[in-house]
Amino acid sequence: MTPEEILQQIHEEVQSCTKCGLYFSRKYGVSGAGPANAEIMLIGEGPGFHENETGIPFVGGSGRFLDELLEGIGLKREEVFIGNVVKCRPPGNRDPQAGELAACDPYLERQIAAINPKVIVTLGRFSMAKFLPHAKISEVHGKAMKVKGRLVVAMYHPAAALHQRSLRPTLEADFAKLPDLIAQADAAPEYQEDPTENPSQGQQLSMF
Ligand code: URA
Ligand code: SF4
Repeated sequence: MTPEEILQQIHEEVQSCTKCGLYFSRKYGVSGAGPANAEIMLIGEGPGFHENETGIPFVGGSGRFLDELLEGIGLKREEVFIGNVVKCRPPGNRDPQAGELAACDPYLERQIAAINPKVIVTLGRFSMAKFLPHAKISEVHGKAMKVKGRLVVAMYHPAAALHQRSLRPTLEADFAKLPDLIAQADAAPEYQEDPTENPSQGQQLSMF
């Protein structure tokens, strides 16, 4: 199968998936959007109201801000792949739960493998936790790290900057660094997991 076909197949599987309870609140599964050969893959949290109604990621208020952030570095949303850690809307926009994240993760893993992006940009803490389980967003945002050979840059979620205006310039500055971080990918340090810090959390988070 070509990468395009794999993404299409995942999209179809997600529409009828019942692997976690979030299917109850699904109108449209939001598998993700963007070209299969995208160099940049952005991973958010999960569909909100508007995404659930349309099947398209980041179409609400935070989506408009995301478009502005991309525009700021000369990119259109059609040039990047935008996905989420859960593909169905958590009711009332509550946080996704550990079991839901674990159930949905294989779809994201298959998307990453098919796209093989130059960089993964995590938006918000749930997507960050998949790659950098012990990181604090306030410490690692805007920094490039290698995780199993893959370049990962954690960023605040655009919705966080809509609630807390002071994060807006931070997010803009972190996006502005992205082209250089990609160009200097070889210099990025390997992410050091430190499970001795909190072993039980390490075990729990390594599930997804
Ligand atoms: N927030 C997200 O994390 N993902 C979306 O698709 C929309 C809003
Ligand atoms: Fe399936 Fe993911 Fe939707 Fe859960 S959130 S039902 S695992 S597609």
